[in-house]
Amino acid sequence: MLDADFFRRWMMATAASVDREAERLTALDSPIGDADHGSNLQRGFAAVRAALEKEAPGTPGAVLVLAGRQLISKVGGAAGPLYGTLLRRTGKALGDAAEVSEEQLAEALRAGVSGVMTLGGAVPGDKTMVDALVPAVDALGDGFAAARAAAEEGAVATTPLLARKGRASYLGERSIGHQDPGATSSALLIAALVEAAA
Ligand code: ADP
Ligand code: MG
Ligand code: MG
Repeated sequence: MLDADFFRRWMMATAASVDREAERLTALDSPIGDADHGSNLQRGFAAVRAALEKEAPGTPGAVLVLAGRQLISKVGGAAGPLYGTLLRRTGKALGDAAEVSEEQLAEALRAGVSGVMTLGGAVPGDKTMVDALVPAVDALGDGFAAARAAAEEGAVATTPLLARKGRASYLGERSIGHQDPGATSSALLIAALVEAAA
């Protein structure tokens, strides 16, 4: 079973990974965006880290709702509200249980990803974070490592796609040949599950 401390470790591991990879995320956002994805997420997850250090939410759901709220309020741009919605919706779906199973997490994340798709209007194949998140949720039944591999594959597979949502879509055909920054950061979020479980 996964308790509040597991979810805290997940968010802290994501924050650390975003710090390590911020330059790469911003570099990916340079040819098909406005070169701020790394700094956007770094600012957001710094706020998540600070909030989780200050408050100590007692349930998995409360950890994710608090994290999501920070991302929505601290990150300008598309990714803040989208990641904020992902975490908040996932947290709400977990309810107020003190511990949840991996199956419950998979189901809640599915609700969170569906919230992202409703808010942003993206479907798989549009070259967005959805292209890493949907395969990750689909693979979660086989464990965190399988979800990590699926998210990474999904992120890499955005390279040949034509962007249909977000800033990259303004480039039309010129968006082809570049890996999507948001799909790349989503793979980091999913990979951090493996770290939190270790
Ligand atoms: P901005 O584009 O506002 O500068 P970021 O650079 O932080 O925001 O985030 C860009 C990422 O957000 C994209 O790479 C993409 O994965 C994701 N994104 C943008 N728009 C959407 C959308 N409508 N639905 C899902 N994801 C989106
Ligand atoms: Mg950007
Ligand atoms: Mg921007």
